[in-house]
Amino acid sequence: MKDETKCLHSGYTPKSGEPSVMPIVQSTTYRFDTTKEIGDLFNMPTAHMYSRFSNPTVEVVEKKIADLEGGVGAMCTSSGQAATLLSILNLCNSGDSFISTSTIYGGSVNLFAVTLKKLGIECIFVDAEDDEETLDKAFKSNTKAVFGETLANPALAVLDIEKFAKIAHKHHVPFIVDNTFATPVLCKPFEYGADIIVHSTSKYMDGHALQCGGVIVDSGNFDWSSGDFPEFVQPDDSYHGVVYTRDFGKAAYIVKARMQLMRDFGAYPSANSAFLLNLGLETLAVRMKQYCENGLAVAKFLASSDKIEEVHYAALEGDRYHERAKKYLPKGTCGVISIVIKGGSANAVKFMDALKLASNEVHVADIRTCVLHPASATHRQLTDEQLVAAGVNPGMIRVSVGLENVDDIIEDLKQSLDQI
Ligand SMILES: *Cc1c(COP(=O)(O)O)cnc(C)c1O
Repeated sequence: MKDETKCLHSGYTPKSGEPSVMPIVQSTTYRFDTTKEIGDLFNMPTAHMYSRFSNPTVEVVEKKIADLEGGVGAMCTSSGQAATLLSILNLCNSGDSFISTSTIYGGSVNLFAVTLKKLGIECIFVDAEDDEETLDKAFKSNTKAVFGETLANPALAVLDIEKFAKIAHKHHVPFIVDNTFATPVLCKPFEYGADIIVHSTSKYMDGHALQCGGVIVDSGNFDWSSGDFPEFVQPDDSYHGVVYTRDFGKAAYIVKARMQLMRDFGAYPSANSAFLLNLGLETLAVRMKQYCENGLAVAKFLASSDKIEEVHYAALEGDRYHERAKKYLPKGTCGVISIVIKGGSANAVKFMDALKLASNEVHVADIRTCVLHPASATHRQLTDEQLVAAGVNPGMIRVSVGLENVDDIIEDLKQSLDQI
């Protein structure tokens, strides 16, 4: 099936007489006939037993997203941050390290550089444009993963996914990609060699700014038997001797994430949240087309304004990442545009405060057009050095183009630019 069809039909196939719409299974628990059946589940979880780590409504959404990305399995989380955190903790223990490009979401930079460090996990940041030889040198004997972002928030740099997949595999570690901005509709990183995908579903997938959520998707392609990942091939004492590769084959990574990490941390979404996320997913493919169309029209308008110094939008001809976007994002580069207004921070604030239709909010990839000043908001915790590494100019504004009529969006931007 194609994406538009998967968005509507994957994950839930009602039998004769069953509801057409995926039901909300609002229950923490599941009833069994015998004590033995429940006991058996603690040896081998073949059914839902407790909604801290699995639920039938959430499972439908997990299957849909896994299908859209082309993976063998997925696990939803209560936020994108939780997905990123668990994707790393499933591979790294205290004393391990992993490599990440520095052009990633500000919240991920903080998680990697500050919080994971407190847990004894080191993140080695690299420049996404470094050549293979330089990147090779970043690997250490305890390096367990490589992390990058398809379309970096907010710098809108396009990642060379194939380059990083190749380097990660040369060093026998998996490559994790945050595919939030692209969504599987615009880019499917598994096709270019990524092994694990994470998303903040709070953005385009939910689409309507209703609730936070995240998801981890497993390609099933990484070979865990090299000996570098003993927890995948040795009996798990916390689960009655389950051996993830032996018992779950290609789904070893995602089952381990659920059975160890979700069981212990419990960052699982509610059935109600999954129901709302599913409503967003049903129209994801249709919405992404319109975001790309509106985004390109607005980017062209902004590029024509003499009040603006820089416009970053990879689908725009002449953009630094235009050629790479043609390869990885041929259908478009979503609705998010980064601009730098002439006159620095002061004019940026003036421009943002003069907008009438676009709202000033801490969100992106919303159905409504919104703007944000990363340096004073989402990236506020970063040092000047980290800001530069993340591609954030202090005068940068992130414009998230919504699904209003594009003429109205442009008119609003124009009247606001006229005031500075
Ligand atoms: C928002 C975002 C996150 C974090 O997701 P939350 O749902 O806000 O926790 C991670 N990665 C990217 C690219 C994001 O835009």
